[in-house]
Amino acid sequence: MRVSNYIIKAKLSDNKYLLFHSYTGALDVVNKKVGEYIENPKKNYIDKESLNTLTKRGYITDKSPREEEKHVLNIVKLLQSKIKTEYVFTIIPTYRCNLKCTYCYQDSIKRDNVSIDKNVVDKIFEIIKNFSYSNNKIFKTIQLFGGEPFLPENYKIIKYILNIGKELGYKFAVSTNGVCLDQYISLLKPKFFKGIQITLDGIENVHNKRRLKKNGTGTFKEIVRNIDIVLSKDIPLNLRVNIDKRNFENFKYLVKYISEKDWTNYPNFQVNFRPVYFVSKNRKKKYGFTNYLLYKKVILLLGKEYLWMNMGNITFPFEPIISDIFRGKGYAGFVAFYCVAQRGSVIFDPYGDLYSCWRTCGEKFWRIGKYIPKLTWEENKLNILKNRTVVDISKCRKCKLALLCGGGCVVKAFDDSRSLYNPGCEDDIEKLLIKKFPIIYNKLKQKNKEDTKYINHFFSE
Ligand code: SF4
Ligand code: SF4
Repeated sequence: MRVSNYIIKAKLSDNKYLLFHSYTGALDVVNKKVGEYIENPKKNYIDKESLNTLTKRGYITDKSPREEEKHVLNIVKLLQSKIKTEYVFTIIPTYRCNLKCTYCYQDSIKRDNVSIDKNVVDKIFEIIKNFSYSNNKIFKTIQLFGGEPFLPENYKIIKYILNIGKELGYKFAVSTNGVCLDQYISLLKPKFFKGIQITLDGIENVHNKRRLKKNGTGTFKEIVRNIDIVLSKDIPLNLRVNIDKRNFENFKYLVKYISEKDWTNYPNFQVNFRPVYFVSKNRKKKYGFTNYLLYKKVILLLGKEYLWMNMGNITFPFEPIISDIFRGKGYAGFVAFYCVAQRGSVIFDPYGDLYSCWRTCGEKFWRIGKYIPKLTWEENKLNILKNRTVVDISKCRKCKLALLCGGGCVVKAFDDSRSLYNPGCEDDIEKLLIKKFPIIYNKLKQKNKEDTKYINHFFSE
């Protein structure tokens, strides 16, 4: 018998640890003694009964490392065979944008004056309707993305899209720079929108140096005014803050500004901060943060993580995976794939091309099909996405996070190594997870008071 290679252990308090077994799905709160035993069984001792419980939960195993790896790969294959496609639709009305942000990753794509028109919108909804006849899961929220979807000249086509979508039972989520939102006031209604994401990168002088108009002027004032408008309309607002070394120090002033504005009093207001994604290795080295480093630094800077603040979907959906244990299912929702781009995301761009990942829209290498003049798929691309699991990625095969992660972001893997079959995670992903684990656990415990019966509190006196 030996300690399993698939344990995630995090400190909950001076005397308590959290243990999560990443293929049996066991989640346990244990005392210091057990925590230390798991860390080093040769130097520590526990009684027989405790040992039996640890064995039942999978922390102690008679499987060899090779057998454990094989077991995990079998689970992945099983999950892969059972998973249904989950269609999430995104419409890009145009790639044009009214800003020239300093870190825009869409710099290299073609941004001419092409916008979708009514005929194209009709075609998109015809396709969406046909998808809904299939036996697969369909998300009832359509994403609007760009370029900038809410350009003043897009008003009529956006109104058209919203109305057709609503008739078919869809709501919309939009990522906008927020500059011209005031021109969309008559459409800002909860019956249309599930949520709006607006980016603010700092207080005025910092934000204005990063997110500026084509003529070089800043956008802070317009955006703040429009955030006030969205919140007054009772629409959930996700304030996105893109952070790199150039605006990091300013984050604390932005947090102060947000509190003073009372935005946090709106129940549907949330701040999501993320490190800027740099494709260029040099820029990444000069300005970038890893998720772990940023998270650590933000906590040091602010002293804590505020409830209304979130580090986005930092690494992989760890919280939903764990929350399944609380939600009466009693077991973790393991995954075979990393993200929606592999599970059924369909993005309609204004040129009649289809993509599955927002970050790669407009880059022909990542195109998965066309919908103009008629719907055709690029089967080889789809197969790569649908079949890329940890089974094919040698480094992931041994990883204890395999069933939580699914192999990482395929685009990051390709950007970093020019291969799709390398891990798409950052080196310090496990450290970040361990740091976040107690916070996620406490949050879920608070949310699911009645349902904690599924969490074992053995050995925790
Ligand atoms: S991408 Fe990284 S974290 Fe994810 S399974 Fe592979 S090695 Fe593990
Ligand atoms: S492939 Fe990567 S960038 Fe694209 S949606 Fe998935 S996680 Fe995001």
